[in-house]
Amino acid sequence: MGFCLLNNVAIAAAHARASGLDRVAIVDWDVHHGNGTQDAFVDDPNVLYISTHQFPFYPGTGAVSETGEGEGKGYTVNVPLTAGGGDGVYRAAFERIILPVLEEYRPQLVLVSAGFDASARDPLAEMTLSADAFGWMARALRGVAEKSAGGKIALVLEGGYDLVALESGLLAATRGVCEGTALDIARAPDVEDLERASRVAREAWKTVG
Ligand SMILES: [Zn+2]
Repeated sequence: MGFCLLNNVAIAAAHARASGLDRVAIVDWDVHHGNGTQDAFVDDPNVLYISTHQFPFYPGTGAVSETGEGEGKGYTVNVPLTAGGGDGVYRAAFERIILPVLEEYRPQLVLVSAGFDASARDPLAEMTLSADAFGWMARALRGVAEKSAGGKIALVLEGGYDLVALESGLLAATRGVCEGTALDIARAPDVEDLERASRVAREAWKTVG
């Protein structure tokens, strides 16, 4: 239900699976929930789908209770965030939930649905990320890929509807993932959204704090 004809990240994950990988992680920081990606792998434990997104928001899916189905139970991790959240909330979400889950899963490949529409300037959404936050998240995911995937990570461009924010966010993320350089961002005090999301994630992932 997004603006794409082909879901590049889902196709890449399916291709990686067909090529013999057993653990592919998709991290979706686009501001919209990736309902198509989630649906494609909802019952598949071999593809872990983790999403941060504004919630409630278009397309309406991505509640914290959507955790996968059948054998894929636990391998969908949704971290819905209240409108207005910024760098500190994303850093807390990564440190409390996303990075521990990834390190426990030990992906052989990390694919990132790298939308830049959670930026403060974006005209469609109401999250307030700075460019530095994209750099920080990209660097953190590079670290995950280095630990378990031999460094294999791809950032795949998705949303982003303000050209200035797109340029600065993309530059920071590219530096973070290619060079491992990024500015630090402050971590927010724990917020209710993350309390809820960690409670649910903890049922499947013992390292979530
Ligand atoms: Zn989007």
